[in-house]
Amino acid sequence: MMPRKSWVASANDPNTDFPLNNLPCGVFSINDGEPRCGVAIGDMILDVTALEENDILRPGDEPVFDVPFWNDFMELGPDTWARFRADLTAQLAEGADRRTDVKPHLVRQADAKMHMPFAVAEFTDFYAGRNHATNVGTMFRGPENALPPNWLHIPIGYNGRASSVVVSGTDFHRPWGQLKSPDHDMPAFLPSRRFDFELEMGAVIGQPSDGPVTVAEADEMIFGYVLLNDWSARDIQAWEYQPLGPFQAKATATTISPWIVTRAALEPFRTSTPEREKPLLPYLQEPGPMLYDIDLAVQLAPEGRPATTIARTNMAELYYSAAQQLAHHTTSGCPMNVGDLLGSGTISGPSRESRGSLLELSWGGKEPLALDSGETRTFLEDGDTITMTGAAQGDGYRIGFGTCRGTVLPARADPYAR
Ligand code: CA
Repeated sequence: MMPRKSWVASANDPNTDFPLNNLPCGVFSINDGEPRCGVAIGDMILDVTALEENDILRPGDEPVFDVPFWNDFMELGPDTWARFRADLTAQLAEGADRRTDVKPHLVRQADAKMHMPFAVAEFTDFYAGRNHATNVGTMFRGPENALPPNWLHIPIGYNGRASSVVVSGTDFHRPWGQLKSPDHDMPAFLPSRRFDFELEMGAVIGQPSDGPVTVAEADEMIFGYVLLNDWSARDIQAWEYQPLGPFQAKATATTISPWIVTRAALEPFRTSTPEREKPLLPYLQEPGPMLYDIDLAVQLAPEGRPATTIARTNMAELYYSAAQQLAHHTTSGCPMNVGDLLGSGTISGPSRESRGSLLELSWGGKEPLALDSGETRTFLEDGDTITMTGAAQGDGYRIGFGTCRGTVLPARADPYAR
């Protein structure tokens, strides 16, 4: 597919994340004003709340952009998503007839503060990166038992917390928790010493389900994708995770990028999951390519120092797609809702420089990572900023996600000190 030209000049830059082919959905505010729904185009945001208010572009009979989240729009369903995308494309394309009506509703991204693009109904985190699961399993259980016996058959997941999902740029404090050193009989309540990031993709569910759905139906329910950082306290996790899985280790914060890149924009970049080592049960088999060729990168910047790119990988390293995960999620009859968020699991490639967490990059803390600033890291230190980026590269254009960023602030004073 060729890049489409827009009358918004910055959208035609081959290096912009937001050409006319993208049109991702976000929520923004200007000068402490009310948050509004907007679509990114070049270095601008098109205020679609204003387009709806002024009767220039109305997706439905009733207003859906009078609320600061995209859930009401998502509820209208895939036909409306497609029609709205086509209408927006026509309004922003070169030669658009109502350019003079639309132009006053563009604002500069540089002037905007971004907010959560959707109200997260519930958050489920999966574990679909084979290299990640193998690396972690090797460290925790040894190379013979690296992959759990169920892993090649089931997209493993756990129900996380929607309440701690935050938008890029939201800083948070290092968590306290129960840590158990092998040298001591008793655990201690301390700030986490092995705080980490996890590079993931998040799938945003745009349609509800009532009962089990097929992989093809699941794919149709996905509105779009975001970058996702599943911050993880490895020392809390190591002590708490048996037998029910992660709990407080994953509950401090989960950061997402501010723009939902729609499934429609990613369509030209579909790619298949890897060859199956063991055949999947029929309900998990994919009718076509369900992953996307999206290059991903992670940067680490110590406080006041330049950033180092510490990992590069691709979404295509996943073993299970979001559609497979979503189909599996419904097998029990679990109802899915508009605004549900599914984390993919950490995306690591086969090489050291393609690993999507510090746990893997520093091999459990044994192999410190050298930064360009001359410092080294095993796990995150106070003041460290992690920035994730991602883009699908087309011919002369790219479909980008913007940035997914967060800074680890020092732990607060002991919350239980008397
Ligand atoms: Ca995770």
